[in-house]
Amino acid sequence: MLIIMVKCKKSVQQVTAPGALVMQRFLGPNKCELVQVHLLTLAKWGPQGFEMMPKLASLPPVEPEVKLIGNIHGNEVVGREMLIYLAQYLCAEYLLGNPRIQRLINTTRIHLLPSMNPDGYEVAAAEGAGYNGWTSGRQNAQNLDLNRNFPDLTSEYYRLASVRGTRTDHIPIPEHYWWGKVAPETKAIMKWMRTAPFVLSASLHGGDLVVSYPFDFSKHPLEMKMFSPTPDEKMFKLLARAYADVHPMMMDRSEGRCGGNFLKQGSIINGADWYSFTGGMSDFNYLHSNCFEITVELGCVKFPPEEALYGLWLNNKESLLSFVEMVHRGIKGVVMDRFGKPVKNARILVKGIRHDVTTAPDGDYWRLLPPGSHIVIAQAPGYSKVMKRVTIPLRMRKAGRVDFILQPLGTGHKKLSHELQRTAPASRDPLGGAGLRDQPPQLDLEPLGARRQPSAGGSKPWWWSYFTSLSPHRPRWLLKY
Ligand SMILES: [Zn+2]
Repeated sequence: MLIIMVKCKKSVQQVTAPGALVMQRFLGPNKCELVQVHLLTLAKWGPQGFEMMPKLASLPPVEPEVKLIGNIHGNEVVGREMLIYLAQYLCAEYLLGNPRIQRLINTTRIHLLPSMNPDGYEVAAAEGAGYNGWTSGRQNAQNLDLNRNFPDLTSEYYRLASVRGTRTDHIPIPEHYWWGKVAPETKAIMKWMRTAPFVLSASLHGGDLVVSYPFDFSKHPLEMKMFSPTPDEKMFKLLARAYADVHPMMMDRSEGRCGGNFLKQGSIINGADWYSFTGGMSDFNYLHSNCFEITVELGCVKFPPEEALYGLWLNNKESLLSFVEMVHRGIKGVVMDRFGKPVKNARILVKGIRHDVTTAPDGDYWRLLPPGSHIVIAQAPGYSKVMKRVTIPLRMRKAGRVDFILQPLGTGHKKLSHELQRTAPASRDPLGGAGLRDQPPQLDLEPLGARRQPSAGGSKPWWWSYFTSLSPHRPRWLLKY
């Protein structure tokens, strides 16, 4: 299912479409091509496999992209439901004029994939809530655990990190990975990651109550529990806290509760410090792309009964919103040459953080950064470096704009161009080419403001009963014009 929210010149319209063609048909007669388009995409596996909307790529790149993925383990179903509710909530509140939601949607591209593993879900759902065991339906139809099926770049990272001066970001997928079993779901996610320059992501799981962040694979391969931070440890902690600190159950001080063993750490933990595993999706996001992904365990019951869903939604609503808003923490901008031509694949380095992000084909970048002063450097082959000092305040609602204009150098910079080639997809890469950004973003600095408090909600929203009605013909989706 594809849900699209289109902002035309004066009106906001929503359309539910089974595919990209319908969207094109909708956009054509409504003359929405030249105005800002905001969308929520919901993807689902169909008989032809996983289909994301290909036209998404050609829309104006004015906003940072966030993805939320549920149900990677088919029997962990809460994330799947939460993302459907979130899509409904965002659409409904947008139309009601909720300023926070309007602002969020007007400044952010939000991609929702409620189920990454629908085949596993079918197995778990056949057993039903209350009967589903701990592992039945966890894997996909090929019996592969999708969160162990991504390329292990973390081992390669540890090797590279021990060599001084080596780049440890945008690590290519090793060719031997393709010799093994690669699930179509895994491959589809990797392809999807190539179609949009995601900045932030969350993978929603169940079975515990905690937020974990990379690395998931321990820096010592034999240590099953070992604190293994990324160079962006501070930022990842902030991202995890953005979720946990506004989650009433994660903040509950009683030790006997679900997830109570994480209470001392504030319900967040470094993945490898919890338990180490290889081939996870979050490590892959961080080491292969510009995207920072955290893992959220939504509760101890993997397949709760329907009656539990409303409480779960109330507990997670503010967390999901506050997490998505984190994509605006840090800096963003454009790297261009002295003629204003965008420089693609330029590196944005931050002193003291050995992890570069790169610019998209139109020279734009986003760099999540924790509060404080940072020295940021932009560099690209054939140009001189440009360095700037930025200060990130404690609170911000929109990333600070930092553009770079690079001056060309003379010849003789083969080392850099060699380095750049590494970021291009390998020739035999089955995922094919990357990238697609059409225009540089129109971004600007904005005054700081206090974070909105969640609306105190005692009564259920108008659309809730439609999801929970017992009728077999109940709609799975609801849009109110
Ligand atoms: Zn899981």
